[in-house]
Amino acid sequence: MEIAPGVHRVPGVTGSNAVLLVDRRMALVDCGVSGNGEAIVRYIRSLGRDPKDLAWVVLTHFHFDHSGSAAELHHLTGAQVVAHVAETELDHHGKRLLIKGNEGEQPPGWYRWAMRRARRHERDAHYHDTEVHQPVEDGQVLPCLGGLRVIHTPGHTPGSICPLLQQPRVLFLGDSVLNNVDRLSRPLMWDRAKRRRLDASLRSLRELDAEMACFGHGPPLTEEVMRRVQALTDRPYDVPTWRIVLRNWRTLRRFQASTRRPGHWEGGPR
Ligand SMILES: [Zn+2]
Ligand SMILES: [Zn+2]
Repeated sequence: MEIAPGVHRVPGVTGSNAVLLVDRRMALVDCGVSGNGEAIVRYIRSLGRDPKDLAWVVLTHFHFDHSGSAAELHHLTGAQVVAHVAETELDHHGKRLLIKGNEGEQPPGWYRWAMRRARRHERDAHYHDTEVHQPVEDGQVLPCLGGLRVIHTPGHTPGSICPLLQQPRVLFLGDSVLNNVDRLSRPLMWDRAKRRRLDASLRSLRELDAEMACFGHGPPLTEEVMRRVQALTDRPYDVPTWRIVLRNWRTLRRFQASTRRPGHWEGGPR
């Protein structure tokens, strides 16, 4: 489905949204959980294009619901996998792979309890070895549709990025911001230091100019985009996380369901 000139939200992808930028050389922003490769290739063919024209699979961050089909797509189309260098590590052969988790993290018990269902799914989903062919840093631009500029927005993960398409002006917020339809919100995070980092990242986006925002989950936003991003960063983020969990229990369940079937997940934790 074309949501802006040359910008397509690929239908039927499980996990995260996958957005295809259609140009002479095409880019895909995020690709859902594993097993979506064929559906994405079919969509490219339905546009009358050769899957080999897919030049880049750009990952907003390493999480399996965004990166699961990246290796598959590389094999099917030859596309280069692109991620921020902080989302990668070298294996013992010197190959650059996407990280599979945050080392040494031990969330508090109530968080593990709250995420039990999601975590069960995480085990089902397997993190595959995903080679990153093009590690990028803040400010780099991919030559697609007038340029896709990498903006490093650490917080949700260390190497989260919010790529900004220059023409049309579309900002990809990944999981750094969630669209709850009635309002924008920040993702659920138990670590206060990370929350502060995310907030600093989001404040750095305030002065951008975008006419559309795409999210890792939920529908795109087409009205008052930057005003709403600014309003989000005006709101305090310091409420206790357990309260956020209780307030958003149903939304978390919906997220878990959306990773199993083609998603119409239209919300997230506040
Ligand atoms: Zn995520
Ligand atoms: Zn996600």
